[in-house]
Amino acid sequence: MREFDVIRRIASLAAQRKSHPALITGIGDDCAVIQPAARTDLVFTTDFLIEDRHFKHETHTARAVGHKALARSLSDLAAMGAEPVFCLVSVALPPHRTSRWIDGFYRGVLALADQHRISLAGGDLSQADRVIADVMCCGSVPRGKALLRSGAKPGDRIFVTGKLGRAAASNWRVKPVPRLETGISLRGLATAAMDLSDGLSLDLRRLCLASGVSASLTGKLPIASGATLDQALHGGEDYELLFTARSSTRKRIAGSTEVGVIQSGEPGLILFEGKPLLPGGFDHFA
Ligand SMILES: [Mg+2]
Repeated sequence: MREFDVIRRIASLAAQRKSHPALITGIGDDCAVIQPAARTDLVFTTDFLIEDRHFKHETHTARAVGHKALARSLSDLAAMGAEPVFCLVSVALPPHRTSRWIDGFYRGVLALADQHRISLAGGDLSQADRVIADVMCCGSVPRGKALLRSGAKPGDRIFVTGKLGRAAASNWRVKPVPRLETGISLRGLATAAMDLSDGLSLDLRRLCLASGVSASLTGKLPIASGATLDQALHGGEDYELLFTARSSTRKRIAGSTEVGVIQSGEPGLILFEGKPLLPGGFDHFA
């Protein structure tokens, strides 16, 4: 299949879907055209998904790779409390990957896109010696309401959604579920938020550094079945949300587990059972 045919096929798959009202022009022109609603802020994120680094050809179907590529960026939108608007999906792949693989990849992208009503508005195709996918997502939030990492204050409680260590315990084969609805429900409630991509110990440290605070993990961690405590503390790619909220508002938080408290102290220091917890999560440049 030639590039032109591939693009035509992707465009027709995307065109069969109802697009976001903000998307005026999607695939087919030089740029997508977006008309944001009044009094909204737009948030942007981009994530690579690279073969042999984030997935393996032997263990991940093309659909699973497409799902994961979009899920990573959607999780970042969730962490900002944003509603998904559109995505741009670029893929470079070896020439021997069949058109069936590309088709499966985009079906994986579009199935998840449909679930969260995000429009595929464009992208690029190229060749590389392994699959490299780059997904850019744009979301919208009411003006000034984006959830940042920097708002945690001493006394705030720390929460996580879902169970931790699930991805590590299953050798990263699970399909991550971006917590978009939870993110939106936390607007005006969470004082700081981020998504857990690299493990609780490392990501909580990042949140604390951004807020200039320290933290103590005191609650019982929600450990995924089959996962170890180590995997729950340090395992990456769970794509759950990590957030803080004033203790006075904690009763309004449903479906999340309280795992600790924010403290004044050395910024970025995390205590677990009273002892300093060294960040053991995934650091790309370690
Ligand atoms: Mg993130």
